[in-house]
Amino acid sequence: MSTDLFKDLVSHSKEYGFIFPSSEVYDGLSGVYDYGPYGVELKNNIKTYWWRSMVQNHENIVGLDAAIMMHPKTWKASGHVDAFNDPLVDNKTSQKRYRADVLIEEGLEKIMAKAEKELEKARKRFGDEFDENKYKTENQRVADYIKQHDHLHGRFVTAMGKGDMPELKLIIEELEIADPVSGTRDWTEVRQFNLMFYTQLGNIAGEEGKLYLRPETAQGIFVNFLNVQKTTRQKLPFGIAQIGKAFRNEIIARQFIFRMREFEQMEMQYFIQPGTEMQWYNYWKETRMKWHLSLGTDPAKLRFHDHDNLAHYANAAVDVQFEFPFGFKELEGIHSRTDFDLSSHQELSGKKMQYFDPETNESYVPYVVETSIGLDRMFLAMMSNAYTEETVPDADGKDSTRIVLKFHPALAPVKCAILPLLKNNDDLTAMGRKIFDDLKFSFLCQYDEKDAIGRRYRRQDAIGTPFCVTVDHQSLEDQTVTIRERDTLKQDRIHISKIQGIVEEGISFRSLF
Ligand code: ATP
Repeated sequence: MSTDLFKDLVSHSKEYGFIFPSSEVYDGLSGVYDYGPYGVELKNNIKTYWWRSMVQNHENIVGLDAAIMMHPKTWKASGHVDAFNDPLVDNKTSQKRYRADVLIEEGLEKIMAKAEKELEKARKRFGDEFDENKYKTENQRVADYIKQHDHLHGRFVTAMGKGDMPELKLIIEELEIADPVSGTRDWTEVRQFNLMFYTQLGNIAGEEGKLYLRPETAQGIFVNFLNVQKTTRQKLPFGIAQIGKAFRNEIIARQFIFRMREFEQMEMQYFIQPGTEMQWYNYWKETRMKWHLSLGTDPAKLRFHDHDNLAHYANAAVDVQFEFPFGFKELEGIHSRTDFDLSSHQELSGKKMQYFDPETNESYVPYVVETSIGLDRMFLAMMSNAYTEETVPDADGKDSTRIVLKFHPALAPVKCAILPLLKNNDDLTAMGRKIFDDLKFSFLCQYDEKDAIGRRYRRQDAIGTPFCVTVDHQSLEDQTVTIRERDTLKQDRIHISKIQGIVEEGISFRSLF
């Protein structure tokens, strides 16, 4: 999908009631969005699919809904107060603010793009004879690009690991990175910026009363680990799943709902015996990839990406990346978090965070493997997957262009539209209403009698409705209707008693599991 198509997707999302900028009448609030009538349905369907896959389909995974506000010490123990930072740099001319690591990553990508350009030329020149590995070492220019990239990349990873801000500034200078706005290279020093939002609790002044909005949902699960384990009598391994809001004061929020300041996460922490973490890490990697593929996403648009830089709590970490309209980016993270969080809470709270293992007769702090997916990023992935512009025959047989959202029917906001052929025929509209009233208890339907039938079909296509039922004169005679399938445009005449079964089968989550 090109940048232009991405712009079209953003405006389509607004025009058709999926996503609005927050407080738009005041020109919006950067990095914050509201979900409209169809957006909230799609979002709820994604949540349902995730929740059922995790909680309903696993006897040993249970749910939780912890509060957004937590005791301030939570964030000290988790490491967020000290280490949840991004390196920030300002351009003095434009006064624009950037993430230094993002600037460097883009700079490194540019070097590799230069090498790739040379390789592409050589591929064309030498055809089948071309030995790429040999060329990379023997062509001086390509070899220099690769060497420069690898050298600076190595220094970058080390600097990020150590939190070495002056070194990041040097790398920006060596990469000769210019501000895209002012074109100048007059950068400030690079400094750490903590991403947590905070407010003050009641009348308690100072650090004691500093209340953070959670930057991840996971800590609500960790501090409740024993409450959940004891009340549900789970044995290891077992998991706790949660869906909820998280807040991050991102230095630059951009790319629509990809990077927001208020967003939602779907996280599952899986508590396991120490020493079994790689086995479970691999299990969840595979399971989560299958989950993504089951929605019909093209496998070429999904890939794993190992972390260069492990977070302070992890001993292994991988991202599931999706090819968004602006390139492959993280959609979900799978992390082996060791016993870092539970041990830290045990230490700071003075309360035991141990599990008594009846099989070994030992008590220990479990290890954790987590899967953490951004609901809003999943939403954007599903929107960009679904958005299709195509030419199809119109109701009168002529070619016309339609924009259709080809969601998996289980995720589609509205499942079935009921369309009486004519608005001013009381018999047709009464029959349409009756069908709508019968079906509305089973799934979300829409009744629409306004405009020509072709336009009504286009409106349903634009919000991704998988089935349209049309009531016509024949319906009055023999109780049959036509049912139109969104993607194939196939229309079948069926008895009205069959509608519910056909739609329910099409939209069922069952086929996904
Ligand atoms: P990134 O590197 O893109 O900032 P992250 O590695 O900090 O993401 P995690 O802390 O692993 O992200 O969070 C888990 C998931 O939460 C991410 O995979 C992503 O889908 C989602 N997420 C994180 N930050 C944001 C954000 N600002 N807006 C929307 N979703 C987010």
